[in-house]
Order: sequence, then C-alpha cells, then structure tokens
Amino acid sequence: MSIVIQVVWLALIATIEIVATQWDRLVRGHARKVRNLAFTVINHLVIPVATVTVTHLCQPRIGTHWIAGLPALPGIVLTVVALDFAGYWFHRFSHRNLFLWRFHQIHHLDEDFDATTGARVHTAEEVMHQVVLVVIAVMLGVPSSYFTVFATLSFIMAIFHHCNVAIAWKVERVLRTIVFTPALHVPHHNDDIVNTDSNFGFIFPWWDRMFGTYNTAQRTPQWRIGLDYSHDLSLHRLIVQPFVPKQLKESAIAPVPYATYETAGQAAARPEGKAA
Ligand SMILES: [Zn+2]
Repeated sequence: MSIVIQVVWLALIATIEIVATQWDRLVRGHARKVRNLAFTVINHLVIPVATVTVTHLCQPRIGTHWIAGLPALPGIVLTVVALDFAGYWFHRFSHRNLFLWRFHQIHHLDEDFDATTGARVHTAEEVMHQVVLVVIAVMLGVPSSYFTVFATLSFIMAIFHHCNVAIAWKVERVLRTIVFTPALHVPHHNDDIVNTDSNFGFIFPWWDRMFGTYNTAQRTPQWRIGLDYSHDLSLHRLIVQPFVPKQLKESAIAPVPYATYETAGQAAARPEGKAA
C-alpha cells in the first residue's frame, strides 16, 4: 500500500510540474530524470521491506515499548517528529563528514531541481540513513506500522519539497511554517556553499529554525543548481563515485564556471549529452 501511495504521489507531482511549472528546465532531455528515478527504483526494491522487517523483529526483543504503549495518534505523531529530528541531524552531519558526503553529493550533483531530484539518493546513503532511523525507532519502541507511516510521509515530503511547481506566495507563506516547501529547500541545492549548507530539514522546518540553519534566500534566475566543483555524472559513475579513492572535489581544477550554465529564462538548456 505504501509503495502504491508513493508511486501515485510521484506521478501526480510530476504531472502538476508539467502544467504549473515555476522555473524553466535547466537540463533538457529525459536522461537526467531516468538517472534520478533509477535510484529510487533500486532503493525501493529492498530497503523498505528490510527496515520494516528489522524493526518488526527487533523492537519486541531488544527495544522499549515507549511509543507502542501510547494511543495510536500521539504515537504516530511522536514517531514522525522524532524520526524527522534524527533525519535533520543525519543530513546536517552528511554535509560535514567527508565519508558521508561521498554518498550525499550524488543527490547534490543534480543540475536541475524537480520531483525526480527528491528521488535521487544513493542506495548506500539510503541504507545508512535507514539504519540510523531503525536503531532510534527500536530504542523508542516504534511499531513497524508507525515506521511505515513515517517512511511514506518522508518520501511524500521529499518529492514535494523538491518539486518545480508554482505555489502562490500566500499559500507558500503559510505552508512553510509547518512543512518544508520547494522555495525553502531550493537554496540547499544552490551551488553557493552558504546556501548549500542550510535548510537541512525533511518534513518540518522547525529544526533549522531552532539550530541556526534556517535560510529564507529566494531563488533567482542567476542561481546555479548543483555543486561548484563538478558537473553531473552518468548513472554508472554516480553509482560508483562514492567508492572511488580520489573524490571529485580533489580532482576539480577550478570551480565549475558559472558561464557554462544556462539559467531559467536565459539561453537554451544545457544538452543532456554534456553530462560527464
Ligand atoms: Zn544535502
């Protein structure tokens, strides 16, 4: 059921992106989207089943029953808030720790920003992230069904806050007090490191507000999406890149020149074939 909801949501947002686009596409062709979606297909084939199974098996044996002992509604709310809080710190640490960054940079190497970006997470990063969440879930006594609710909501929000959909400012202004919106998350994908290292939240923006990483910078047509030390890579290079001893940043001769990029509303989009 969870996977059906996620697929339908992804298709729905992708459809809305076509009819209510906010920003011109920066990368033409379908190869980029296929690359991004390939990761989510790989991730969904094994990880959700594994995490729910491990939570289900471990929680009664070695975990507590704190959240399982609560009524369903507060139990689910507490699960979502606690695991989203953990996700914030895992994400923030992934930008600081060189080992974790090897994997997380695959998400940031995307040179456009849409729903498929939200689906683009290296499988090894997803595994590590889920391991952290499962350990916390077991410690808190989260039933596996609540964990599935959180995982589904988390995916829905990841697709939403990456989407390229025009949202009225009046609506967005209210939404951003409760959840991460695309306008709030897009600075995190700007290649300016000041913006990249901000807005780490997944579902709620509260953790960024509490811990000094909240950023309300507004995207402009001049913003470049991606990382300043590399262009995007082909799918097979994205998969193996984290395991290559010499990292992209070490190989970079100079920052990616801004002039090689087109921005929304300017020159024709960069041909897909230029991916390294
Ligand atoms: Zn990030």
